[in-house]
Amino acid sequence: MAVSPAGAPVSAREGPASGGVGPKGVPDLSPDPLFEHSVVFQMALRQLQTVAEHFEIESGVLERLSKPKRALIVSCPIRMDKGHTENFIGFRVQHSLTSGPAKGGLRFHPNVDLGEVAALAMWMSWKCGIMNLPFGGGKGGIACDPATLSRGERERLTRRYTEEVGVIIGPRQDVMAPDMGTDEQTMAWIMDTYSARVGYACPEIVTGKPVELGGCVGRREATGRGVVYCVVEALKELKIAPESATAVVQGFGNVGSVAAAELHSRGVKVIAVSDRYGAIRNDKGLDIPALNKYMSEAPPESHPMLTNFPGAEACDPNELLTMKCTVLVPAALERVIDEKNAPKLQCRVIAEGANGPTTPDADKIIERSDIFVIPDVLCNAGGVTVSYFEWVQDIQQLMWSEELVNQKLRELMLRSFATVRGLAVDRKLPMRVAALSVGVKKVALEKDRRGLFP
Ligand code: NAD
Repeated sequence: MAVSPAGAPVSAREGPASGGVGPKGVPDLSPDPLFEHSVVFQMALRQLQTVAEHFEIESGVLERLSKPKRALIVSCPIRMDKGHTENFIGFRVQHSLTSGPAKGGLRFHPNVDLGEVAALAMWMSWKCGIMNLPFGGGKGGIACDPATLSRGERERLTRRYTEEVGVIIGPRQDVMAPDMGTDEQTMAWIMDTYSARVGYACPEIVTGKPVELGGCVGRREATGRGVVYCVVEALKELKIAPESATAVVQGFGNVGSVAAAELHSRGVKVIAVSDRYGAIRNDKGLDIPALNKYMSEAPPESHPMLTNFPGAEACDPNELLTMKCTVLVPAALERVIDEKNAPKLQCRVIAEGANGPTTPDADKIIERSDIFVIPDVLCNAGGVTVSYFEWVQDIQQLMWSEELVNQKLRELMLRSFATVRGLAVDRKLPMRVAALSVGVKKVALEKDRRGLFP
């Protein structure tokens, strides 16, 4: 690791960190040159640094935690519908394999790059640690715009990617799940491609697949549900009745649409939602079941437009995050809450459905306000938790009822929420630092106990 006796503290704002000793005597973590141009990776590193400033972590272990265990870049050429060939770049990063197989989603998005995937893999390690799951952190991605690809092109791309990363994935090595731009069908193609490769049906190679193929009932809804279990706990502490609360949701995909539905079913008025094409609002509360029905009934190859939904008016997506509401749920992209809009936030609770929606600079501003932050590594951990249930069921070939899945999910989410909240209160830490600390300390302890080979 690049640790030098002197130098400037890490700052994501000012570009790559230069090594040295931080304000609390902790060695500054410098990104490996491979990742130094990624603001998202620097953000993840800065968070790790903050944890190390509050809790003692052996420097050799800290160094190992600051970079991924493995990273693979693959090129995925596919035949497009029009007959020509296009080549897409894909990534799979395993941040840690200390606690078990790497676990983490596969993302299809034009901005995917190595640094982003490495940061997301690191966050997965902390998330699995917080939830006490026997997994390390992993993440994958392909730089593509799935909205411009036909179903056939997406299938060929997924299968080619699976073949290319086949050398490092496996049910005991690395288990993928859906993330932004991918879904149950993507997981079914991965399962089929991998199973053909090994010569037998291997459902435990992925989670978040269709129920007919060994998927877990309730997995699709698990992340949004987990978000809302956390929101309910926060509202309880703030003594706000759900029926008197309002919510704004950025991103109306898997996480956002389920979180909105769960909030709505508890009496919370969801007053605005957005997706990549636009935003809508209704101050009296959107009819979320009707909106979900409207969005799901669009023909498979077309993109339903939120803004055409009859029960609402279009609004400016840029103003969505700063609208007055009780609960703000960012459930789309990273770094959408930054130092520019953080001072303008008018919510009481931020429930981070997305990974990395808040920058460290924004965190500093929010920490001075009375906003209750439920950080991503805790808030959206319902997805990986039910993925764990799915993996266990597939290995045992014994499927659970949805009632049992939801009961266990709630139990684990509430337990982790209480652990994080307890630490935050006892040590007077921001919720994000408390949550990350729980995850980082668990992985650090396991690394320390396992020792260094050879
Ligand atoms: P998804 O592809 O199902 O939905 C993403 C949504 O975000 C879509 O509605 C899209 O239109 C919208 N979006 C994209 N760009 C936007 C923009 N600029 N403004 C507003 N909306 C925009 O993806 P998802 O699975 O719901 O994932 C969303 C986030 O949640 C990601 O950060 C992902 O890493 C995180 N997450 C997902 C899971 C899961 O189980 N799916 C688990 C944990 C975390």
